[in-house]
Amino acid sequence: MTSIYLDGHSTTPLAPEAFEAMSPWWHIQAANSHSPHLRGMIASQAVETARDEVANLVSVAPQEITFTSGATEANNIAIRGLALAALERGLTRRRIVVSAIEHKSVLSSANSLRKLGFDVVEAPVTTQGVVDLDQLSTLINEDTLMVSVMAVNNEIGSIQPLAQITDLARAFDALIHVDAAQAAGKVSIDLSEFDLASLSSHKMYGPMGIGALFVSAASALRPLPLQLGGGQEGGIRPGTIPTPLTVGFGMAAKVAQSRLSADHHHSFELSILLLKELQNRQTAFIENVPVSMRVPGSISLRFPGIEATSLIGKIGDKLAISEGSACNSGQISESHVLSAMGLSPEQASETVRIFCSRYNTHEEIVQAAQLLASAVRDYR
Ligand code: PMP
Repeated sequence: MTSIYLDGHSTTPLAPEAFEAMSPWWHIQAANSHSPHLRGMIASQAVETARDEVANLVSVAPQEITFTSGATEANNIAIRGLALAALERGLTRRRIVVSAIEHKSVLSSANSLRKLGFDVVEAPVTTQGVVDLDQLSTLINEDTLMVSVMAVNNEIGSIQPLAQITDLARAFDALIHVDAAQAAGKVSIDLSEFDLASLSSHKMYGPMGIGALFVSAASALRPLPLQLGGGQEGGIRPGTIPTPLTVGFGMAAKVAQSRLSADHHHSFELSILLLKELQNRQTAFIENVPVSMRVPGSISLRFPGIEATSLIGKIGDKLAISEGSACNSGQISESHVLSAMGLSPEQASETVRIFCSRYNTHEEIVQAAQLLASAVRDYR
């Protein structure tokens, strides 16, 4: 039996359409899209088509999309680049508000600015993993330069109330950045309401190694680049654009857009089936986030009394699921997301995260439930 892959919050399998679209650009049509000859111009057109496809998926203009190496880089430019731009402009706002459950690339970028005189505050979340709006409203003030909140959390799948958060930020003319890495391609999202946003191709069935930063044309401030080089990507992100990855990302965005409601339905159904199959096998579990608050396909589960790492150690050769955050794997430390939700270290260590993707089948889900149920039974 080959391994069943339910770890789509870590990375999603490449869409076959994206794989095929990328193929000629590695060799037969290989060209630098910045080159002046015909091949270069054809590559440049392919890159611009991809930019249109990514922009369309998130309802923004193509000129507002900058390709990056992924959401980590986009988050760094959005936060650090914006703070540097504010300093260069002589702006006096020094507060940066982030949620307590942001990805480490947001938290570390924000925290790195403390030594430049910025005041970084974390908005708490509820026990359901959603930003606490009352508490957030007390943290945003006239000194706030930027509010950065993710659209969907990568460990627990919780969907954040972005419309209300944007209203709170706008009331004080603060800029708003949204890490949409886990939302784009999985749920319909319109980024045009925000100043900045980050995307990752490999979370939406595109290739690894590419992502995008959205910077609104209407935004009062544009981030400064963090790297220096040729003036590619409007100077915000210098470096040669990887034509094959860009084409694959564009195709993944196009496919995701055309299948948004079918994917939504499929992933949701599979996640409900998995829970039902576990219940049918009398397997005790606790869901960390209620179904109405999470992205379809996502499940954050606890099997009381069983450490997630030992469960994965037992069946990880047959079933690919993660404990805590895969982005932190290697470091066995408590998940900052689960602890921000109020879970004890013990409860956090019992948590596994699952994402049922476009390519999973009913049969796989039933087999996954069998594997989990029998592993849990062995412990009890
Ligand atoms: N933000 C979120 C919410 C993520 O889930 C991830 C990937 N785990 C990232 C940022 C980083 O994305 P990338 O791998 O493209 O750098």
